[in-house]
Amino acid sequence: MEKVVVNIAYLLSASLFIFGLKNLSHPRTAVRGNLLGASGMLIAVLVTLIDKRIVDFKLIIAGLIIGGLIGTLLALKVQMTAMPQLVAVFNGLGGGASAMVAGSAFFESELSSLSADFLTATVASAIIGSVTFFGSGVAFGKLQGLINERPMRYPGDQLLKLTVGAVTLLTGYMIITAPEFSILYWVILIFGGFLGILLTISIGGADMPVVIALLNSYSGLAASATGFVLENTALIISGSLVGASGIILTNLMCKAMNRSLLNVLFGGFGEVAQTKDDIYEGKVKSTSPEEVALLLESARRVVIVPGYGMAVAQAQFPVRDLFNYLTERGVEVDFAIHPVAGRMPGHMNVLLAEVDIPYDRMKELDQINPYFEQTDVSIVIGANDVVNPLAETDPKSPIAGMPVLQVWKSKTVIVIKRSLSPGFAGIPNPLFAMDNTLMLFSDAKKAVEEILRSLKEQ
Ligand code: NDP
Repeated sequence: MEKVVVNIAYLLSASLFIFGLKNLSHPRTAVRGNLLGASGMLIAVLVTLIDKRIVDFKLIIAGLIIGGLIGTLLALKVQMTAMPQLVAVFNGLGGGASAMVAGSAFFESELSSLSADFLTATVASAIIGSVTFFGSGVAFGKLQGLINERPMRYPGDQLLKLTVGAVTLLTGYMIITAPEFSILYWVILIFGGFLGILLTISIGGADMPVVIALLNSYSGLAASATGFVLENTALIISGSLVGASGIILTNLMCKAMNRSLLNVLFGGFGEVAQTKDDIYEGKVKSTSPEEVALLLESARRVVIVPGYGMAVAQAQFPVRDLFNYLTERGVEVDFAIHPVAGRMPGHMNVLLAEVDIPYDRMKELDQINPYFEQTDVSIVIGANDVVNPLAETDPKSPIAGMPVLQVWKSKTVIVIKRSLSPGFAGIPNPLFAMDNTLMLFSDAKKAVEEILRSLKEQ
């Protein structure tokens, strides 16, 4: 009887995960989706507590309190701009926990009771879990600026990755065929971790979003493998959902960057041919909020291109006011949303939805690029890599091949940022030195507020 109740509850939580994912696919329903998923997880956790033989509730309660406290504090304190790092930490901990749980199930089982299925799932969990844990650690370091963001390349790097991958798999095979050598479990964790570090450290620049989506998928696969070890249906389903949605997101990000997954994992880039002095020397023109206001006064079609700097400055509120002011005066204003603008998928959509920008004004790259030629003024707010023409002209650049927003085709381009510093990919941007570009050097929030003030005073 208890088994039936547990399975029905797991079925209910699996359905909630699936409906949650469906709702998460649109900003309008995303909050509901999150709540549905969280409710599904709560049911799964509660039911698991009555399902299994609990050794000691004290430790579980202590874990819930400590984990809950850390999670709540992080959720309250972490800035929106640091979300990808947080996701990297969550992915890593998920992968690490899966490997540890599978490992403890392996170590506490009787040798005679170990089946090939159990051992295969344990090995899968150990390999994927430790690749995810250590790979996510490196991704966190790169996003946080603790490790150089550029891809680390060295002679023989691909061969080293393949060798470590092969040794890890071989060790896994050995433990499946000879489980009495249980020490090999630790060897798998070490080699898997080394592989995770090698795979992630060689990726950088514009490819980081793909890596994060992929590590997210790995954490799901590790959880699913642990689900097979524990014979826990809820863990198998939720892990597979995370794994599958992570792979779908990875694929979408690869398409958005015009790259194949293999190319991201084994590619890597050279250096940019031109230095920033070649590009900028004597060619950059700066402007003032008053001059931008004058240009906007006579514009009929304006495109706003938000980027990471808008998120840092929290400029979405004055940007919304500027949008309202211009549209009320009959100007056609659109937002050009690049799929990897900001630091997480959908980052700009979330910020603009927060301030109630209508969804039909947010245009995707393919939709908006043909319209730049008919645009009077494009305002680039804290974006850099996503409007860098080097992606189209320099095959060696870290963003080569990534489709970019072709703002330079507009009559005038205003770029709002604080300096000529590079963006995430660490490369100069010839857009800043183009004839039709004016740089407004300022914090994005302050600049947009001042433009609006000047417009109102005119
Ligand atoms: P970039 O990182 O290319 O550039 C952001 C620019 O914002 C900087 O050049 C900076 O210039 C400016 N900036 C920072 N703070 C402020 C401020 N307060 N006011 C005004 N400007 C500011 O951002 P993009 O959005 O163009 O591109 C995103 C990049 O991040 C891509 O390379 C992408 O691959 C990568 N990435 C994306 C992820 C995703 O999932 N979306 C995840 C991980 C990486 P300055 O210092 O001069 O002000």
